[in-house]
Amino acid sequence: MAEERLQKLLARAGIASRRASEELIAAGRVTVDGRVVTELGTKVDPERQSVLVDGKPLPRERLRYVILHKPAGILSGPDPKAGYPSWETLVRVPERLYAVGRLDQDSEGLLLLTNDGDLALRLSHPRYEHPKTYLVQVEGLPDARKIRRLQHGVMLDDGRTLPARVMLLREPPEPFAPPRPAPVRGGQGGKGQPAAPPPQRRTSWLKLTLREGRKRQVRRMVSLLGHPALRVIRIGLGPLSLGDLRPGKWRDLTAGEARALRDAAYHGEGTGQNVAQSEGAPAQSERNRNALSPSTIAIDGPSASGKSTVGGLLAEELGYLYFDTGVMYRAVAAAAIARRVNPHDEAAVTELAESLTIDVLPPTINDGRDVTVLADGVDVSWDIRRMDVEKAVTPISSYYGVREAMRKAQRRIGEHGRVVMVGRDIGTVVLPDADLKIYLDATLAERARRRHLERQRRGEQVSFEQVLADVERRDRGDSTRQHAPLAAAPDAIMVETTGMDVDQVLDRVGLLVERWRSERQARGQAGAARPPARPTRARKL
Ligand code: C5P
Repeated sequence: MAEERLQKLLARAGIASRRASEELIAAGRVTVDGRVVTELGTKVDPERQSVLVDGKPLPRERLRYVILHKPAGILSGPDPKAGYPSWETLVRVPERLYAVGRLDQDSEGLLLLTNDGDLALRLSHPRYEHPKTYLVQVEGLPDARKIRRLQHGVMLDDGRTLPARVMLLREPPEPFAPPRPAPVRGGQGGKGQPAAPPPQRRTSWLKLTLREGRKRQVRRMVSLLGHPALRVIRIGLGPLSLGDLRPGKWRDLTAGEARALRDAAYHGEGTGQNVAQSEGAPAQSERNRNALSPSTIAIDGPSASGKSTVGGLLAEELGYLYFDTGVMYRAVAAAAIARRVNPHDEAAVTELAESLTIDVLPPTINDGRDVTVLADGVDVSWDIRRMDVEKAVTPISSYYGVREAMRKAQRRIGEHGRVVMVGRDIGTVVLPDADLKIYLDATLAERARRRHLERQRRGEQVSFEQVLADVERRDRGDSTRQHAPLAAAPDAIMVETTGMDVDQVLDRVGLLVERWRSERQARGQAGAARPPARPTRARKL
């Protein structure tokens, strides 16, 4: 988002009228990045700078859901290869929106934009995505055998595609029938420049519904069969349809659409829709399996016990949301440092945590990050990994008020279910009723070895002794603090991972999920309506 004048920003955020906002500024009640600003007309970038009025951040924006008919040549997100226009040139709204999922630069159609971070995270899950429907104009005429291959799945260089629903259309779809502007050619270097298809060459149209969204997947699938795509137009995303929205135009979702979208995101209702009926699609049985899976999974454990890696992979396997609660504590620490709040000043840090809006979103920038983390709109995704943040987070996460603020936000995310949440107190405090609780552990030496390797891979020059001391310090801080200390819930299943690699740990955790399923099934068959028998002591696997 571009810079704007401070008084305009305050007015837009609903703090006061432009005129009254000027008075607030002149009275010294507004700070930018911790410094009082009294000069009217000061320009600020709300995305990068922290603006407080009387020490409080600007109110949270209302949630907004927009669909755009993205024309070819427009980027679906900020991209390091700057210079190309992004959707922001077409949708000018006061809220800070993010595109959910990518739509290639040379592809067209439905792009969902929202500032609802929870929803965006859920909808952008890499596997078992919500069905996406595309109209695809290809060169030539694919025969029935090729259509069947597309339906069953083809082998791409990153693995076999999931079964898809594929139809050869008899005629070009209505809004896209000729005469129309020359189609945009596919291909890596497509810059959205219109280029006519080769004269006299036959083209045909397919309607494809996929449940996964790998990079340039549609184009790669049809190219593999010898029918390169000329145009790819997304017309459906989960319960949403592009309808007759013209290219370059956008609209807010209706209340009903927004509700359907939330249902799809939180209850998985979009998953498999349509596609489940396609030939050979495993979606139905997968859905049955998922219906029988633990819906909330809590994974706790000390630093470097492998929680994030295992939690992320497990969530991917189940098609669940993965949520790492540690990033929230880290975001508070990063904000405290940026605003010069002393991490040891409990009252000041608590006040900051209580007023801080933390958004955890799918990556908004393609720079290798796993998630985008915003603290009052300021992107702290990389800052939270800094060593000074890591040091400050131990005292900060020991404060009761900070934990309460984080717990509330985390519980809101967990209450929708279909989630793997990792941290230190998930099974004990945040989601005490989680269906499955796992506590991962490993010896201090093993965890320090893993963390050392990880930091070396990131190119950091750090000795093993230093890492060992850091991990030990964090262990001590986390397990001796008064509030919600690191501990296994009484009904958690302990998994000791020393000497195991990630695959082995994942296998072990997969077995726990299987066991949960069979126990549930057995109870179901016995017709017992009683609640699941929970062991009263932590079990060791
Ligand atoms: O897991 P990660 O190392 O990213 O977490 C950062 C810090 O946040 C931890 O060292 C711990 O002090 C704190 N934390 C916590 N409770 C959680 C998650 C993290 O206290 N549920």
